[in-house]
Amino acid sequence: MSAVAIRDAYDVAVVGAGPAGLAAATVCAKAGLSTVLLDEQASAGGQIYRAITETPVREKPVLGESYWRGAALVEAFRSSGAEHVAGATVWSLTREREIGVSVGGGAQLTGARRVILCTGALERPFPIPGWTLPGVMTAGAAQILLKSAGLVASGRTVLAGCGPLLWLLAWQYLNAGANIDAILDTTAEENRTRALPHVPRFLLSGYFLEGLKLVRAVKREVRVISGVTALRAIGDTGVRSVAFRRHGDVEETRLADTLLLHQGVAPNVNLALSAGVEHRWDESQLCWAPVLDDEGNSSVEGIAVAGDGAGIAGAQAAEWRGRLAAIAAARALGFSVPAVEEARARRELKRCLRGRAFLDTLYRPAKSFRQPSGDTIVCRCEEVTARQITDTVALGCPGPNQMKAFLRCGMGLCQGRLCGLTVTELIAEGRGVPPQQVGYYRLRPPVKPITVAELAALPKTEAAVKAVVRI
Ligand SMILES: Cc1cc2nc3c(=O)[nH]c(=O)nc-3n(C[C@H](O)[C@H](O)[C@H](O)COP(=O)(O)OP(=O)(O)OC[C@H]3O[C@@H](n4cnc5c(N)ncnc54)[C@H](O)[C@@H]3O)c2cc1C
Repeated sequence: MSAVAIRDAYDVAVVGAGPAGLAAATVCAKAGLSTVLLDEQASAGGQIYRAITETPVREKPVLGESYWRGAALVEAFRSSGAEHVAGATVWSLTREREIGVSVGGGAQLTGARRVILCTGALERPFPIPGWTLPGVMTAGAAQILLKSAGLVASGRTVLAGCGPLLWLLAWQYLNAGANIDAILDTTAEENRTRALPHVPRFLLSGYFLEGLKLVRAVKREVRVISGVTALRAIGDTGVRSVAFRRHGDVEETRLADTLLLHQGVAPNVNLALSAGVEHRWDESQLCWAPVLDDEGNSSVEGIAVAGDGAGIAGAQAAEWRGRLAAIAAARALGFSVPAVEEARARRELKRCLRGRAFLDTLYRPAKSFRQPSGDTIVCRCEEVTARQITDTVALGCPGPNQMKAFLRCGMGLCQGRLCGLTVTELIAEGRGVPPQQVGYYRLRPPVKPITVAELAALPKTEAAVKAVVRI
């Protein structure tokens, strides 16, 4: 892909073209702000609406209505007048809202008077023995292959874990004609009781009927083994089988050529954290979430966060959060947006959030699947095991950043995306303190891999940088 020239300054820069970013950029552009939407994917859509304008899966029932709802959002964005830079990886964001971005192998600097981060969510780590074996991947990765390439796993396929996305993928896989050998459901029995008080509000949320239809359809066709309390993937050059325990009983085994794991999603915090946005540990969602006001404004002036990057709430909530953050940005820059738009966004967001407590409680991943032990790999990039981490805590290591010095965990290509939550929780457990007290990796740019050549090609002197980025 050839380098795309990005202007050196905008009123608003939105990072992430999922439902939140698409909605935010559309509102800003329609209000008259010069707006750029930067996203690393080849086309708009984010996670849920991935490749919606070019997916080879044209039979609508395969991916389902909730996927195709994204087409209208992309259409509205395309006619908004905002600029979309696809294949744009944002690797740096400063407190002054200078943005470092790579497009087509060329790094550039740009800037904006307001930045709205809509970087979405990442699948939560699922560190079980053997999770690094070829043939073991996440349910989300399998869904990406389906949405963007129309590919499904062949052979004996086992899904394991918990959470809405696991059931959604199973349903989409069946619609696509794929074979699912079994689903090993790790939803903890006690969660079902704990979720009961949240049922009434869940019944009023849009998720209930859609979820019920989905789970029932899957259970009619696939063997679901519930109450799974332990899992391990077995194999040498690739996964051959998966061993599991139910209710702590004897270990059972199922043959598997592909094992798809999933235990929920968590906000993608790296860029916001590297820009200095304050984050807090959210015990109800077991993750770090930015500290925001009710318009999405963060602790850093001029930087807002919207969508699942602001806390997991799903695609529809993401869209309304994007609109609210955009309305706030427009008004802060002296542009007007009708009050009715804000009132509607607040009303709709409230409705979307009704079912959250039920889903967070029911699908709260079990501690045993979040805090591995022994030789299970935690940091895949640097191959650091759970035992190494707990041993280092016993030596007096207080936090993830000191852990880097001891073990290099979190210093690989993913910059802690696949181990950060696990490392924080293991240290907290070892020290007997809450995760908030342990903290998270200190993130610095580049937050995404970038070549030295790209960095070297950037304007050199402070004056040159200042000349390029007039904010
Ligand atoms: C793998 C996966 C699959 C999912 N599938 C579904 C689904 O089918 N249905 C559903 O209801 N929910 C799904 N979800 C949940 C999903 O988080 C939300 O439903 C919804 O997509 C959140 O919208 P968003 O706008 O906040 O972010 P997202 O849709 O996640 O979009 C964020 C976008 O930002 C981009 N981005 C992130 N960092 C950078 C950067 N530094 N530079 C440039 N671009 C960047 C990402 O590539 C992505 O395109 C999925 C989540 C994951 C992780």
